[in-house]
Amino acid sequence: MTPSPRPLLNRRLAGFGTTIFAEMSALATATGSVNLGQGFPDTDGPEEVREAAVRALRDGRGNQYPPGPGVPELRTAIAEHQRRRYALGYDPDTEVLVTAGATEAIAAALLALVEPGDEVIALEPYYDSYAACIAMAGGTRVPVTLRPSDGRFRLDLDELRAAVTDRTRLLLLNTPHNPTGTVLTREELSAVAALAVERDLLVITDEVYEHLVFEGEHLPLAGFPGMRERTVTVSSAGKTFSFTGWKVGWVTSSPDLVNAVRTAKQFLTYVSSGPFQYAVAAALRLPDEYFTGFTADLRAKRDLLASGLAEAGFEVFRPAGTYFVTTDIRPLGATDGVAFCRELPARCGVVAIPNEVFYDAKEAGTSFVRFAFCKRTEVLHDAISRLKRLRS
Ligand code: PMP
Ligand code: GLN
Repeated sequence: MTPSPRPLLNRRLAGFGTTIFAEMSALATATGSVNLGQGFPDTDGPEEVREAAVRALRDGRGNQYPPGPGVPELRTAIAEHQRRRYALGYDPDTEVLVTAGATEAIAAALLALVEPGDEVIALEPYYDSYAACIAMAGGTRVPVTLRPSDGRFRLDLDELRAAVTDRTRLLLLNTPHNPTGTVLTREELSAVAALAVERDLLVITDEVYEHLVFEGEHLPLAGFPGMRERTVTVSSAGKTFSFTGWKVGWVTSSPDLVNAVRTAKQFLTYVSSGPFQYAVAAALRLPDEYFTGFTADLRAKRDLLASGLAEAGFEVFRPAGTYFVTTDIRPLGATDGVAFCRELPARCGVVAIPNEVFYDAKEAGTSFVRFAFCKRTEVLHDAISRLKRLRS
């Protein structure tokens, strides 16, 4: 008798197929559609930053394995950035770690800090790698759902408090939040911090959209009382400098937490992005005008796409931050976002992302669809005129 074959993919990863971003970008290419799905800019970042990478390559800086924690120039620039922006002091030698994008930072932090059976609370809808990495670490994911209210997706603090149990090890937070565009307020972050202190929880905060805030301000959770010692702050150069392919990310935290994350990280990639690390060090030192100009440009694009989507018949949740507008498709007579996104290229030549795939409680996200506005203005105009066909 032949034994029934064991599935190749181990059980922790069962159910994690191809990421929605890969699937939808492939669909955009195959159908020649305007890709407002995967969040990447269609123009590269500042020329001087690109030139800094070229210089590093030519000068032989970073062409061989860089140091495990990251090149000192970049660690120093990250510490300076945290001080200049947020008045948070980190020692570049013991409290900063360079990673292969925020993705590796999140994976390494979860693998380092979570024991099998630990509960990890994540805000839902959540960025897709969170669920997979919590699963790889053997943790149990406990979603807390952001729900629409007054045109914004809100965190229900009572729901968050009720989700904490004796098994909760960690909160995995993301602000500015992908895909909803919500930026947690000072009051919300204070309450999260008080809860983390009261229940002695560790926190990973994913702040990759820290420079993409259009209303209100980005406040790092690590700056709240009692949080510095329990918070692993994660960020990345991809979004801030429009070089998503370089995959330079980082962690800032206490020496003990950085040590733990580095222990896992060194066996994932060991190191990465040698010459790009020097270029990102230069980028972090760009004058304030770069950052304000960049935010203003994306704010205008947000406004353009948000009004275009409203004119096309969608209900629009105007994002306070990130690259993304979340919409509700019900005013267009549709309810199933996955089916809607699969049909959208054939109907009008646009690709978007169904938010449902970022939920455990699928029914809470079925009718929401995300569009990215980090594209050239003419591309956004083109997409809007295509989307207006949906009404005719
Ligand atoms: N976190 C969030 C919320 C994201 O949207 C993304 C995608 N850009 C990442 C992490 C991954 O960042 P990176 O490309 O630096 O790995
Ligand atoms: N962060 C990007 C998004 O949300 C996608 C990154 C990826 O493809 N993993 O669209």
